[in-house]
Amino acid sequence: MSHIYFSSYPDEISRCSRIYKGFSDAEPIVSAVFKAINNYFEKHPLNPLPIIDLEDSTKQIRAGESINLNPALSTKDVVELLKRISEAMLVVNPQLKEIVEHLKGSFDLFLSDFPDKVSKKDIKDLRDLLIKETVLEQDLATFLFSMMLSSFYRQQLESSSEVLRTDLWEGGDCPLCGEKPHFGMLRSEDGAKVLECWLCGTRWVHTRIKCPFCNNEEQEDLGYFTAESNEICRVNFCKLCCQYYKVFDARKFDADGALSLSIHNLATLAYDLLARKEGFTAGSGLDWVNENEVSDRQD
Ligand SMILES: [Zn+2]
Ligand SMILES: [Zn+2]
Repeated sequence: MSHIYFSSYPDEISRCSRIYKGFSDAEPIVSAVFKAINNYFEKHPLNPLPIIDLEDSTKQIRAGESINLNPALSTKDVVELLKRISEAMLVVNPQLKEIVEHLKGSFDLFLSDFPDKVSKKDIKDLRDLLIKETVLEQDLATFLFSMMLSSFYRQQLESSSEVLRTDLWEGGDCPLCGEKPHFGMLRSEDGAKVLECWLCGTRWVHTRIKCPFCNNEEQEDLGYFTAESNEICRVNFCKLCCQYYKVFDARKFDADGALSLSIHNLATLAYDLLARKEGFTAGSGLDWVNENEVSDRQD
C-alpha cells in the first residue's frame, strides 16, 4: 500500500529543508497539501485496481511498448481531492481566496459535465482551460493537478508497478503509464541513473549518458549543471532536443528506502527556473515555471 509514500512525508520534507536552501518559501504549502491528501485518503481509501498480467506485460515490455495503464477515475473523488488541496493552499496563503472560490465553481461544473468517470485527458483539458481562462497560473496549475493525479495513480498502480519487469525496459518514458519523467536519482548503492514517473511512481534504470526524451546518446550534446554547493540536484539537459529533467544524487545524503523524490522535486523548483532561463523546456511537459518569470531576464 502507498502508506509508505504518504506517511513518511514529514520526514522527507524536513530532510529536503536541510538539503535545499531554496525550499523555505514553498515548504509550508507543500506540508499543508501533503497533510490534506493524507487525511483524505485515510478516510476514503481507494479500491485497488486489478494487477496487470505478468506474462502479457512482460511480452509488451520486451517489445519496447509501455503498458500505457491509464485508468478512468471517479469524477467525484477527483473533484473532492482538488477542493481539499485548494483549501489547504488557501489556509497557508489567504491571498488565494478569489482563485479558490472560482476553482470550486469550475470543479462543480466539471462534475456535472462528467458525472461518473474521467480520463487523464479530460483532467488535463480542465487544467488547460483554467490556465487559458487565467484562473490559474502555470506553476500553480501544475502543482494542484499533479499532486491530485499522482495521488490516485500511485495508489492504484503501485501493485502493478511492483510486478512489472522494469529491468527489461530501456525506454525513456514510463513503462507502466507512458508519461515522460521529470526527475530521477543517482542510486546511492551504485550511482546508476534511476528515473521515476512523476505520475505513477514507477522507477526504472536508464542508461546514464542518454536523453530519455529523444534517445540521443552523443556525449557532447548531453550535460548537467547544478547550483547549490552540495551539488545534490542536477539539471540534466540535452542540446539536441533542448529539454531537461532533474536528477538527485542520492549518494550525497543519507537516503533510506522510503525516499520520496516527488518532494525533492517540489523542493528544487528554483532549478526548473534556471533550466528555462538556459533555454531548455521540461521534457515531461510539466510547466513548473511561469512564462513571465522566464522572460524576466537581462539581455
Ligand atoms: Zn508512470
Ligand atoms: Zn534529447
